[in-house]
Amino acid sequence: MRCPYCEAVETKVVDSRVTDGGAAIRRRRECLHCELRFTTFERTEDGGLVVVKRSGGRQAFQREKLLSGLRRAAKNRPLDPAALEAVAVSVEEHVRARGPLVPTDEIGRAVLERLRELDEVTYLRFASVYMGFEDATDFAREAGLLNKATAPKERRRRG
Ligand SMILES: [Zn+2]
Repeated sequence: MRCPYCEAVETKVVDSRVTDGGAAIRRRRECLHCELRFTTFERTEDGGLVVVKRSGGRQAFQREKLLSGLRRAAKNRPLDPAALEAVAVSVEEHVRARGPLVPTDEIGRAVLERLRELDEVTYLRFASVYMGFEDATDFAREAGLLNKATAPKERRRRG
């Protein structure tokens, strides 16, 4: 964090307090060079959307990370990169409406709903990785469901 007055890089924190209902930390800093003080606010990335993993671990939601997963799944598929970005944005909007804590599976389902309409191969690749299929049977079942005429929204996912 550069000093806004002299642009020196070295500063020290002289006061630190939680603010905004725990969503941010306000820090009072002093420049080690010119000794002037300034305030910074530290927030979790992307407005505090937190992904809760199956293990119970938590991490900040990162659209870029989701997008790179989508790109991996869509590798060598004739898809417009903008379409994948649109999926990521749409998923983020979806989970943000339910946030701030979002289970991994909720994100996975939101992604799959959108990929199903976009590209079958990408959908299955993503499903195999993110839904954590244990064996080929699960995978085949999902593939079978994909081919059924059932409207996606009528389908009930186990669990
Ligand atoms: Zn300074």
